[in-house]
Amino acid sequence: MDTRRRAPGSGTLEAPRDSLEGEGRFLQITQALQDVVVLCSSDFTQLLFVNAAYERIWGRTRSELYANPLAFLNGVHPEDRDRVWDVLRNQPPSGAELEFRVVRPDGDLRWVWARTFPVRGRYGDVYRFAGIAEDVTERKQVLESHARLIRGFTHDVKNPLGAADGLLTLLEMGLHGPLSELQSDTVGRARRGIRTALDLIGQLLDIERAQSGQLQIMREHFDLGEAARDVVGEFASAAHLKDLSLQLVLPAETDALLIYSDRARVRQIIANLVSNGVKYTQAGGRVSVRVAAVEEDEAPRQGRRLAVVVEDNGPGIPADKQHLLFREFTRFSPNAAEGSGVGLAISEKLALALDGTITFKSVVGVGSVFTLWLPSDRRQSAAD
Ligand code: ADP
Repeated sequence: MDTRRRAPGSGTLEAPRDSLEGEGRFLQITQALQDVVVLCSSDFTQLLFVNAAYERIWGRTRSELYANPLAFLNGVHPEDRDRVWDVLRNQPPSGAELEFRVVRPDGDLRWVWARTFPVRGRYGDVYRFAGIAEDVTERKQVLESHARLIRGFTHDVKNPLGAADGLLTLLEMGLHGPLSELQSDTVGRARRGIRTALDLIGQLLDIERAQSGQLQIMREHFDLGEAARDVVGEFASAAHLKDLSLQLVLPAETDALLIYSDRARVRQIIANLVSNGVKYTQAGGRVSVRVAAVEEDEAPRQGRRLAVVVEDNGPGIPADKQHLLFREFTRFSPNAAEGSGVGLAISEKLALALDGTITFKSVVGVGSVFTLWLPSDRRQSAAD
C-alpha cells in the first residue's frame, strides 16, 4: 500500500509487472483528473492515496494530508467543518454525499461537492473509504446568477401586471361607467391573460425556489382522495366544453388515502397532470383520475404507497422525446393547446420536495398515464 505514496512509476521490487503497469496507468489517469480522488483507512488515521487535484482545490499540500488525513478539515469553512466531520464519521453503509465550502490559505472560497464510497473486505466489513470531490464553484455561481435574474425578472413583471389587473377590475366593476357586453367580454379576456401570465411567474418562482432548496413545505393531515376530488371538480367545465369524459375513481375504504403532506402543493401537482390530460386529449376523449393505496412492492420507491394515476387516451408522447418531458419549457406540439412547458418540471420538483416521485407511460396513438407517488400518512408521521 505504501507504493501509492511514491511518485508515479516508482513501484516496488516485489510487485508483479502487470500490477505495476496498472498502477502507473491509474496514477496517470488520476493525476490528470480535475476532481479529487482519495483513499483512506476507515478510521481516517491513514491516507493511502490522494491525487494532485487536492492541491489545486484546497490550495494545501498533499504531504500535510499524508501526515494527518484529517488536515483537509483545516481548509473547510469553519461553519461547515462540524457538519462535514459529522457526515464522514457517521456514514451510512452506502456512503455519503455532501456539499461544503473550502477556504484556501489565500482566502479564496471554493464550493466542493463530495461523495464517499465504503470499500469492503472479504467478509463485508468496511476497511477503507474512497472518495471523490469536485469543485462546483463556477456551476454554483451560474445557478446563483440565474436565480437572481429570475427573482428580479419575476418581481419586476409581477407588479405592473398586478396593477393592470387592478385597473381592469375597476372597469369591470363599472366604476368608469357601464360596459357593453363586448367591452365586458374583452376586459374578461384581458384579465384571464394576465392571470395566466401571473400563474406562469408563480411557477417560475417555484422552480427557482425548489432549485435553491427554499421551497416552503407546510405539512398537514388530509385525505388525498378529497384533494383529487376538488381538482377534478375544478376541471369539470373545461372537460365538458371539450366533450371529454373526466372521471374520478376512489377506493371504498374511507381512511385508506390519509396523507401527511402539503395540501396546496399536492393539489398543484394533481392539477398540472389533470390539466395536461384535458388540454392534450382530443375532443370526445377520456381522462380518468384514480387514487389508490398500493402494496409496498408495487411502489417505485420504498415507502411511497399512495398513488394518483391520471390516465388519458390522448395523442401520447413520442418515445424519443420522453426524456425531455420534465425539462423546463419543453413543448412537443406548440400549436396543440395553450401551455408554457413548465408544468411537469415544477410538478416533478414539488413531488421530490414532498418525498414523492412522478412516473409515466405514454404510447403514441394510445394515450398517457402519469402517476404521482407519495408516502402514506402512517409512515410519514412516524418519521417526523
Ligand atoms: P405545458 O404547460 O406545455 O403543458 P408541461 O410541462 O405540463 O407543459 O408538459 C410539457 C409537454 O409535454 C407539453 O407541452 C406536451 O407537449 C407534453 N404533454 C404533457 N402531458 C401530456 C399528455 N397527457 N398527453 C400528451 N402530451 C403531453
